[in-house]
Amino acid sequence: MKVKDMGEFTLINAISDDVIFDPTTVIEGIGDDCAIYKSTEDYEQLISIDTMVEGIHFTFNTMSPYDIGVRLSTANISDIAAMGGIPRQIVISIAIPPTMDSAIIKSIYDGIKYQCKQYTINLIGGDTVSTSGPLVITLTIVGEVPKGKAVLRRRAQVGDCIGVTGYMGSSAAGLDAIYHTYQDTNVIIQSHRQPQPQVALGTYLRHIGATAMNDISDGLASELHEIADTSNITMLIEEELIPIHRETMLISNRLGNNPLDYALFGGEDFQLVFTIPSESLPAVHNQKDITIIGQIISKGDGTVLMKGKDQSIRVIEKKGYNHFSHD
Ligand code: ADP
Ligand code: MG
Repeated sequence: MKVKDMGEFTLINAISDDVIFDPTTVIEGIGDDCAIYKSTEDYEQLISIDTMVEGIHFTFNTMSPYDIGVRLSTANISDIAAMGGIPRQIVISIAIPPTMDSAIIKSIYDGIKYQCKQYTINLIGGDTVSTSGPLVITLTIVGEVPKGKAVLRRRAQVGDCIGVTGYMGSSAAGLDAIYHTYQDTNVIIQSHRQPQPQVALGTYLRHIGATAMNDISDGLASELHEIADTSNITMLIEEELIPIHRETMLISNRLGNNPLDYALFGGEDFQLVFTIPSESLPAVHNQKDITIIGQIISKGDGTVLMKGKDQSIRVIEKKGYNHFSHD
């Protein structure tokens, strides 16, 4: 049924069941003018917002409505993870073209609810409007972090090590795999369709004393630059140490792409990049999902250097000047 034939209230009813996964923090959920939620004593509140526009941030050609819901939630939850925080509540604003099938909206919500369930987040409200333009979905998330403990971008120190979680470039390589309809690269295709936020690792990294942290939404190079710029330091990473999934290597070989371009400039992995003092290194060595890739070498103006496999050192630009080019 088209959204315009269904009506706003029927639609809201259809999406507002099974949305509370941690009832201990909710006093009033969907249904009143505002939701009411509880905050935890001695914690600070984190809040972040993300918008996705059909045709700009997603298309129904490469992603199902369910995947779009998952991805939007991940982008949002990932921002909380990148502060070392715990995600708690979300509200959703949705602008729908009236001719859209309501089943699409329902599936997007199913993807969002699936993520809410996995990360114990409550969906406690939203707003529904119609639009003459494309579908627009905006998600606001509230999270918590113990007082004074949020991991900022601007606190990387000279001597700190630089690390990442998971693999770099899987989502971008996964998208190319979808375009080329490869069947044997399901791990990276899944990384594109249903990337997951690194909440547990974000909290762990806060616990062991990470000094700076970012989630990788725009690509490793860009996120490293953000840390380097705001912390006023120069960093050096090593090409050989950057973790790249073997399926990304496979796709790169087939398409004649440089896997490093996926790793440095491919966005939407939603992994974490962080800095930690060298004393904390033992706490990451036994973690299979964490890899150390470099070090903060001096105070500076935000330069990111990379030592290549041939030992030469070059400057890594913020955005890919050789974006997905052949080497
Ligand atoms: P109001 O007119 O008071 O803003 P609405 O009719 O917009 O109320 O919404 C009714 C209830 O449904 C509110 O609790 C609101 O938070 C919730 N709601 C509306 N749209 C959505 C949505 N797209 N997703 C989740 N909850 C929604
Ligand atoms: Mg409203």
